Amino acid sequence: MAEFDMHKIRKDFPALSQQVYGKDLIYFDNGATSQKPQSVIDAISTYYSKDNSNIHRGVHYLSQLATTQYEEARKTIQKYINAEFEEEVLFTKGTTDGINLVAFSFGEMLNAGDEVIISAMEHHSNIVPWQMLCERKGCVLRVIPITQEGELKMDEFHSFLSEKTKLVSVTHISNTLGTINPVEEIITAAHAVGAKVLLDGAQSIQHMKVDMQALDCDFYTFSGHKVFGPTGVGILYGKKDILNAMPPYQGGGDMIAKVTFEKTTYNELPHKFEAGTPNISGGICLGTAIDYLSSFDIDELEAYEQELVEYAETEIKKIEAVRIIGTAKKKTSVVSFVVEGTHPFDIGTLLDKQGIAVRTGHHCTQPLMDFFEIPGTVRASFAFYNTKEEIDIFITALKRSVKMLL
Ligand SMILES: *Cc1c(COP(=O)(O)O)cnc(C)c1O
Repeated sequence: MAEFDMHKIRKDFPALSQQVYGKDLIYFDNGATSQKPQSVIDAISTYYSKDNSNIHRGVHYLSQLATTQYEEARKTIQKYINAEFEEEVLFTKGTTDGINLVAFSFGEMLNAGDEVIISAMEHHSNIVPWQMLCERKGCVLRVIPITQEGELKMDEFHSFLSEKTKLVSVTHISNTLGTINPVEEIITAAHAVGAKVLLDGAQSIQHMKVDMQALDCDFYTFSGHKVFGPTGVGILYGKKDILNAMPPYQGGGDMIAKVTFEKTTYNELPHKFEAGTPNISGGICLGTAIDYLSSFDIDELEAYEQELVEYAETEIKKIEAVRIIGTAKKKTSVVSFVVEGTHPFDIGTLLDKQGIAVRTGHHCTQPLMDFFEIPGTVRASFAFYNTKEEIDIFITALKRSVKMLL
């Protein structure tokens, strides 16, 4: 295992050192949301205790202070994801909001017969907005199929591409299978036919280095709450030229340059896409979360989490009647499984009573469950504050639960 001061790291996250049902909490539901470090919790409290004020419009001290902090957070995030320009970083409510923004606004520029490509392993939030767009505009949705291992069938993807393809929107890492998709290949191939690429980064930013300029994706979106920050805030990165060409998403305050009843002109980026009073504290504290994450070597965290996943998989596989769902060669952060002859909900409930938080069900990927012909999975999803010792306790509890049910 890599060298971390795990004792100190875990102390940074107060929620981790509590008991549920009289047992030490083991939090393996990081795919749904992450716990928050004390620095983020303190920043939320400080903001509301002292700095609270509306941004971008006040002459007074507090308004300017809040504006500066909010814009500093944007810069922190820009730097972290290596976006070329600050105004390419848009604050949103989260991943879902970011994808809907692109589906609506970029979607306004599409015509009947244009094609959008997604994949069979997408989260509902990267399926439904595109179905809505296709209904609105008469576009065609194509779905890259996957193998039994949970990898994209790349030959089929390549065969879908044509001058009709306008956008490819795929998840960087599957929240259900843990598959790391070959996004570099996807981006290069999509660009070759003039299509843009959106990456759903909800499961990647917290697990690996993401570099907008190196990836060369056109859009990338993630949620604050899955990267150790608050809920209700997220980021949509978009290339400046494309964002400039897109019409606004929502109308209101902040997104305008001048309003008259005859004609309204729109504000510049990023404000054009940030109508209304945003989640100010959320944005500032997402910056704090990214600062916290930046205090580590992300490559080391990734390697450590890789070891956790491999260890968990090896141990889970030893248990009879357990089948792992998602066995891609490149995967991280997630182990999904079913226990033959049991329902995921029952396993989840028994684990919960032993202090272990996992997720059960379809994980907002119902079409993927249909593909595997299962109602759902039990999903253990890890963060860098999890340990091998926790996995050992989990395995013992899982064995006990399986024995009780079979
Ligand atoms: C969580 C998640 C989403 C949705 O994120 P929200 O925070 O609910 O908007 C989208 N895609 C993936 C892969 C996710 O894991």
